[in-house]
Amino acid sequence: MGRNSASVIERFAPSPNGALHLGHAFSALTAWDAAHADGGRFLLRIEDIDQARCRPELEAAMLEDLEWLGLRWETPVLRQSDRMGAYAEALASLDARGLLYPCFCSRKDIQSVLQAPQEQAGPDGPAYPGTCRDLPERKRIQRETNGDPFALRLNMRRAFAALGGAGVVSKLSFIALGRGPGGDSGKVTLDPSFLIDACGDVALARKEIPTSYHLAVVLDDAHQGVTHVTRGEDLFAATHVHRLLQALLGRPTPHYRHHKLIRDEDGRRLAKRDRDAGIAELRAGGATPKDIREMVGLPEARP
Ligand code: GLU
Repeated sequence: MGRNSASVIERFAPSPNGALHLGHAFSALTAWDAAHADGGRFLLRIEDIDQARCRPELEAAMLEDLEWLGLRWETPVLRQSDRMGAYAEALASLDARGLLYPCFCSRKDIQSVLQAPQEQAGPDGPAYPGTCRDLPERKRIQRETNGDPFALRLNMRRAFAALGGAGVVSKLSFIALGRGPGGDSGKVTLDPSFLIDACGDVALARKEIPTSYHLAVVLDDAHQGVTHVTRGEDLFAATHVHRLLQALLGRPTPHYRHHKLIRDEDGRRLAKRDRDAGIAELRAGGATPKDIREMVGLPEARP
């Protein structure tokens, strides 16, 4: 019998924009094993906000591979593309509090303003330089009237103020289970300067997508009652932003397990294009689910 039995809810949340590879398998199996060790529940969530890149046939293939690996999940499966109304509502509430601003910058605009490489990378690469933060009202209205596309960014400084200042933010925390850069289990408190300087004004809605990964994941983990988030250590920085959003949106904070990344022979993290690490290819080559577990260093499945 596991700890906290019935209360543990784990999830695996793939984006169906490519094939399932060993990295996904490791993540999904780690979450699955953790749920089962604790007598908990395991959910699957389809993160398909990027409708231009996510495809039904990729989703079907991913589900088939996951099932083959031995995973079972509750139905109906939550699909982010069905949750746009919830994201819009949260954006409207943040906007009404004056915490968002429209950003008209293209990737190129941002690149050309960024100077020396940042010491610390945020969850979305270098922090946004803030070009549109103080756009004069007249200019903003002009661009909106022109129909120029814009993203919505969180004004990080105002977000701090809304929460009571940097002192309050520095007391916000989450429980890390296992590794994350830095390593160990324990309480991680937010670092206001990391949020301001490295994360910056993160996008909560994109020009072409009316939400963003950060907003959707926070709202959905809360909506699904997820108590334990298992995902790669590359998302450790993102968890700081998610914790802040939870505070702003009044959502609970799950525990976070940031696991190691599965790398190829040259030490590079696996990408969806690495066909030799694809679960479908490995299956076709005769691998069994037990072999896959062995390849990513996980113990045999419990009966
Ligand atoms: N859809 C995200 C991915 O595939 C999931 C990240 C998460 O678990 O929060 O990387």
